[in-house]
Amino acid sequence: MIRAAFLISLLSTLLAFMGLVIEPVSIKYQGFHASWITSFALALCQVLWYGRGTRLSLVTTLPLLLVLGIMLASYLIPEHWISVSSFNLWAEQLISGSNIDDWRPPGLELAALITLTLSLLARTRANLGAPLLQTLAALLLLTNVGLQVTGNGFAPLVRSGSTYTVSLIALLLLAQFIGVVQGWRHTRSSLTRALWPSAILAVLTIAFWYQQSSLADAKLRQSVDVRYQRMAERLSTEVHAHLTAMRRFADFWGILGRPPQEREWSTQAERYYRDFRYFLNISYVTQSGEISYVYPQDPANMGLVGMKVLETQRPNIEVLQRALEQRSEEQTGVMPLLQNVPGLIYYLPINSYQDGSPMGVAAMVVGLPLMADTLYHEGLFDKQRLYLGLWNDDEPLKEWQVLGQPGPWRVESDVVFGHTTLTLIAQPNRELLLSERSRQPSVSLTVGLVLAYLLYLVLFGRHQMALQHRSVNRSNEELRREVRKRTQLQSEVEWLARHDELTGAPNRRHFMNTIEAYAEQTPLCVLLCDIDHFKSVNDQLGHQAGDHALVHLAKLGQQLTPGDGMFARYGGEEFVVMLPNTNQDRGLAIAELLREGVFNSGLEHADGRPITISIGVAVYKSGTLVVADLLHQADLALYEAKRNGRNRVELATDDLASSH
Ligand code: GH3
Ligand code: MG
Ligand code: MG
Repeated sequence: MIRAAFLISLLSTLLAFMGLVIEPVSIKYQGFHASWITSFALALCQVLWYGRGTRLSLVTTLPLLLVLGIMLASYLIPEHWISVSSFNLWAEQLISGSNIDDWRPPGLELAALITLTLSLLARTRANLGAPLLQTLAALLLLTNVGLQVTGNGFAPLVRSGSTYTVSLIALLLLAQFIGVVQGWRHTRSSLTRALWPSAILAVLTIAFWYQQSSLADAKLRQSVDVRYQRMAERLSTEVHAHLTAMRRFADFWGILGRPPQEREWSTQAERYYRDFRYFLNISYVTQSGEISYVYPQDPANMGLVGMKVLETQRPNIEVLQRALEQRSEEQTGVMPLLQNVPGLIYYLPINSYQDGSPMGVAAMVVGLPLMADTLYHEGLFDKQRLYLGLWNDDEPLKEWQVLGQPGPWRVESDVVFGHTTLTLIAQPNRELLLSERSRQPSVSLTVGLVLAYLLYLVLFGRHQMALQHRSVNRSNEELRREVRKRTQLQSEVEWLARHDELTGAPNRRHFMNTIEAYAEQTPLCVLLCDIDHFKSVNDQLGHQAGDHALVHLAKLGQQLTPGDGMFARYGGEEFVVMLPNTNQDRGLAIAELLREGVFNSGLEHADGRPITISIGVAVYKSGTLVVADLLHQADLALYEAKRNGRNRVELATDDLASSH
């Protein structure tokens, strides 16, 4: 598996290298540089990891992560901290002609690369979130493919990665998955429990990002529309203002009631000329169509004085004619002026206020480029980042060329000059739009994915802990059971050490240990009992019947022995009884009770005779207790009982107390 991961990573490295060599030549500065370079670097890290092992790949992966982090920051940092133009300036300084977009992969691609780099660092450790990181990379790549398929009309400012780089990153993801998937097997249950909720959170985050991005772009588009339509309105307002002013100018001469003199004309025209600044000239045309006076009297205009316009081939003849003949306010269309600029001429008839007689025409020449220049002066808009053009149909009258990558939106607004309609086109470049675009979608995507990662860590850790808790509980329970068993066994062993297995009565060892402790409780009686002719029971009724008789007899003996005494099996078919604080008479009475008890117990020999016992009684009254001697006395008494015909009780004749 590691080998397959290594080979796929190696293949990716080669592909990335090829892309790096070929792509910049074919597609210049479209932002693919950064994608190729970072993918190549990640592929290299993977080759080192799967081929060479941890340490070397760490040396390359950590710096890569740092670089990717800086790239990510460029998407998140607010405009007023570091502006897009500052980023562009740095890009320009590093490689002339490049901009910020050339230095960072498209957002989704970058996010996928970051998650893959982190997952490479997490390696097989599912507790560090490698499975989620790989899932996130897959989701981001899928979203990228989605953007490409739908053409990304929803948010034109969001770049999507190229098919090549996205495929390359997908290949790297595949290599990582193959390389580590086996390592996740032993934590599969925790993994799936943590993965589902966090993957769902990630999907929601991406959906939210999608929605926010389209909203941000739509908002921006709207503000662009409003702003540049307002610029066109400014032009229309100006046109309206200068038309009104021109009418006032013409009316002035009508009120005067006589044709103007040259000085008067200059004085009056100068004011209008100064106010509007874009009239190329303001001239007086007589009723015969001859230009009498021109203001300003600069070299360019002086040639016009005395020109009989109606006799020229100028395109404005008809319009002038109409103004002269019909006494109507006329205006040419956009035409090339004698000053070699496009413009238009207004003709305003001057009629005597008193009798209405025609006194000629005031002609005002407007140079359109000059007008646009005057209105959209320096400081009104960002000439570097906004393309602005005044167009007459397909012909540009004035254009302000823009630097950098053009933005996706053109705002076209009509500007009406009487019966001529011009178009003002505004197209902000990408830099201007990016600087105004909200960073919120990128921020919420980053925050959402980080939250999904944290959620995974918490859920995974929690489940692992629950598993550990359960296994600790289980082994605790086992331990408790074991301890119980051993304690029971121990007490059994201890019991067995002190009791006779067959009859359950205390055994000889226990008896011997106990009797020492009763040395003070004198007088102390000892009864040694032996079953009479027991051998014959075994011989005639079988060993099992013999055992049965022994058990029965032991039970009986224990019942008949007083509470503070002890009835024990002494060995074979012999039992011994210890009776503390019991004098000789009472000892003999108890012995008699025992003998009678056995006699009446119903235990029988094969021939129906009752089974009997003989008992030897010894009494210890005072002095130093020597158990062996006491038992020896009892044994002698027992021997006496046997000798005297069995089924009887005999008292030890030797006075033990006096013998010591
Ligand atoms: P007496 O004491 O009256 O002189 O005769 P006896 O037949 O009892 O003589 P002895 O003490 O020689 O025989 C004891 C017999 O008890 C021998 C043995 O087979 C039997 N015996 C000892 N222990 C056991 C036992 O645990 N189970 C059975 N079934 N028999 C036992
Ligand atoms: Mg015996
Ligand atoms: Mg016997």
